[in-house]
Amino acid sequence: MNTVAYFFFQNMALIIAFMFLYIKLKDFFLERKITSFLLISPLLASFLSLVVMLHPLEYEGMKLDLREVPLFFISFIGGWKWGLVSSILPSLYRFSLGGPTVIEGIMQSILLPVLIGSLFYGKGNFIPETTILNLKKLIGTLLLFEVIKSILMIITTPITVQLSFIMSIFAVLAVLGMGLMLNDANRSNMMKKELLYLSNHDSLTHLPNIRWFKEEAQKQLDKKSKVAIAMFDVDYFKKFNDTNGHQAGDEVLRDLSQLLADHIGKEALIARYGGEEFIIFYKNATNRVYIEDVISRFKDKIEQFPFIGRENIPEQKVTISVGISFSNSNDSLENMIKEADQALYESKNSGRNKVTVYSEGQTKSIIEPS
Ligand code: GH3
Ligand code: MG
Ligand code: MG
Repeated sequence: MNTVAYFFFQNMALIIAFMFLYIKLKDFFLERKITSFLLISPLLASFLSLVVMLHPLEYEGMKLDLREVPLFFISFIGGWKWGLVSSILPSLYRFSLGGPTVIEGIMQSILLPVLIGSLFYGKGNFIPETTILNLKKLIGTLLLFEVIKSILMIITTPITVQLSFIMSIFAVLAVLGMGLMLNDANRSNMMKKELLYLSNHDSLTHLPNIRWFKEEAQKQLDKKSKVAIAMFDVDYFKKFNDTNGHQAGDEVLRDLSQLLADHIGKEALIARYGGEEFIIFYKNATNRVYIEDVISRFKDKIEQFPFIGRENIPEQKVTISVGISFSNSNDSLENMIKEADQALYESKNSGRNKVTVYSEGQTKSIIEPS
């Protein structure tokens, strides 16, 4: 009994320690976008299976072990190709041991778990960072394999029903342990991703928020490149809300954010500054005319967009006022935001639905609405 318990804990410790290392390595490489690491997953499973075979339970001249555990697991999560690769080392080792049951040992405990595991593999559904395995399906499939293997072993070897049952329970516990560890790690990966997204994005518009924007813009500004900042604010938005309700106002902000992302988000950083104000950052602003032109066309696009509820307000259209600031040498981010804000204020003061460029000496050039 002691020998069986020792065998169990020794093998469990090996499998769990291996799984722990695998998960840590996987997360380390995938966080750095080194996906080629995944290619060695079946090799690691193969190695683990071999290590497990080196710690067998000796019974009536037979060597019983949990070699099927990593092989089944890797085939279940990665499919038959991973399964076949993982079966190479344990097959070679079993072959080198020789004896009258070489073929059975390879077929029943190495190829069969690969076959059954990959038959129930979720075809391309496995995303290494985030997939949560269906544990019921995992264990159900393993039990199917264990029943087939136990019957074959009881028929072809001197193993008792009782010992075969105990070995199957050990295998179930080991596979369950691997599944739980992978699921725990992937759940925490998903939560990390979600938290990161929530801390960087605005919940109404799903645009990046100003905290993220300032961090990213500062990085670019540190490179001493010529940059530009544009800020815009929806005109008479309080009136729009008062007429159409806050929810209709929210819808305008969402539509407007989508237009901003489509029109400008591909070439510049964008964010919701707060309320009905938005901010844009061009990291390469050597061509001022181009940027003024893009921003001006965006303003026109908003003016023409059929926002729901615009027919109820006196202007019968939603418009924005914009201010742009181009960087001078040694301009700080806060200073550029202040300048863009001043230019925006000038657009408001001079009638709204305008783009104003801040220029040194407080003089402003105004682009008239088209
Ligand atoms: P101006 O042309 O001077 O910008 O006039 P305005 O009415 O847009 O400016 P004001 O600052 O007086 O009002 C801003 C309005 O924006 C008031 C507020 O209700 C609305 N607002 C801010 N955030 C949101 C939001 O998340 N959803 C909705 N629906 N409205 C918002
Ligand atoms: Mg406004
Ligand atoms: Mg405002």
